[in-house]
Amino acid sequence: MKLTFWGAARTVTGSMHHVETGGRRYLLDCGLYQGRRQEAFERNAKFPFAASDIAAVILSHAHIDHSGNLPTLVHHGFSGPIYTTAATRDLCLAMLADSAYLQEKDAEFCNRRREHRKSIGRDDRECAPLYTQEDAQATFPRFSPVPLGEVKEIAPGFTYKTYDAGHMLGSTSMILEADGLRLAFSGDVGRAGLPILRDPEPLAPVDYLIMESTYGDRLHRPIEHVSEKLAAIINRTAGRGGKIIVPCFAVGRTQQLVLLLHELMDHGRIPSIPIFVDSPLAINATEVFRNHPECYDPKLQESLKTGQDPFGFYRLKYVREASESKKLNDLHGPFLVLAASGMCEGGRVLHHLRNNIEDPRNTVLITGFQAEHTLGRKILEKHAEVPIFGEPVRLRAEVESLDELSGHADQKELIEWMRPLSKGLKKVFLVHGEVSQGAALAQVIEREYGIPAVQPERGDSFVLGE
Ligand SMILES: [Zn+2]
Repeated sequence: MKLTFWGAARTVTGSMHHVETGGRRYLLDCGLYQGRRQEAFERNAKFPFAASDIAAVILSHAHIDHSGNLPTLVHHGFSGPIYTTAATRDLCLAMLADSAYLQEKDAEFCNRRREHRKSIGRDDRECAPLYTQEDAQATFPRFSPVPLGEVKEIAPGFTYKTYDAGHMLGSTSMILEADGLRLAFSGDVGRAGLPILRDPEPLAPVDYLIMESTYGDRLHRPIEHVSEKLAAIINRTAGRGGKIIVPCFAVGRTQQLVLLLHELMDHGRIPSIPIFVDSPLAINATEVFRNHPECYDPKLQESLKTGQDPFGFYRLKYVREASESKKLNDLHGPFLVLAASGMCEGGRVLHHLRNNIEDPRNTVLITGFQAEHTLGRKILEKHAEVPIFGEPVRLRAEVESLDELSGHADQKELIEWMRPLSKGLKKVFLVHGEVSQGAALAQVIEREYGIPAVQPERGDSFVLGE
């Protein structure tokens, strides 16, 4: 078995690993690389191998940095199956369609700027979308669902088996078996106690491990108190007649927050204020969550028996139409609105922020990781003024964050996740983390287990078993 790392190598984006066995080639994940526009476009548009040579893709989960470049692969001639769970397939249908729409919008915007440049005597290349809605459509029939935990034969002498990764709906870790070797791929490892999801499932011992390292040098705050904290923020803001604006990742975090809000309201721990989910993608993703109860944790399975819809309650309204979203601007508080994008880089949340962050009665509740240079990061760092739609806006609203809901295991949790599979383990390849995160984690792995851990560079190859 030969492994080559083509993405998420010393970075957190563009997960893509190339596996060769039995004279055939396979991909683990085919994620979108996100970064500076031109660099990202070129990296995503050209594969360092022939797409038509790939026999199959094995997909760990639906997040765009793991699945988002599948339409480009299909566009370039990939015609094999994409093996993954049914929930991941259904989330991908919604997320890849949305991603294609964003790619098309991005190209349109770029071409409008080009027209302007032409009008002042400068010109550059016409922008094309990385992929279109048709490419996304052409990808969907390639998905081939495999139930969690089933041993799937991909080719004679090459099997794989999935384990619940507890990171998002349908997410998996996996063990590949070929050439007398066992290779585990962590995908993204979740955390115990997250709403909706089961805890990460332990893997059997393996020879080699590819493991994520997003939070390789950090520890999260414990999740037990997240409900109390959320209730306190809502009570405080509602008490002064304010609005709570929650920039929110549409898939995963939104549904978890809806569930927590539902519980808090049922138990009378927050006032009965209107709650809006203002995102078409979040609405489509919520449908997928409803259709896959087999992925729920025991607590949610139990509550289904009451016949209640966990993702719907009388104070909650899903807002699909843009016109309905704009009407929220004229509505007086208190109310809470969840809107994408999670890092405030686009989407409907921008309107809500512009209209509300100058009022000290309101609260902005940040719910996930905020990358450098994003608007979300500036808000989190409480800059006195932040740019929205190119205009400076004074930030006078309260700012709070709930990083307890992070979907990624921290350093300690990753080390414990490794324990059941570590007997006989020869080597760990650390991916999906910045260099400093991976380096810190490598040290702890070597200290705790005495196993070498490396951070491969993009394009590095390893023949396993030698
Ligand atoms: Zn992920």
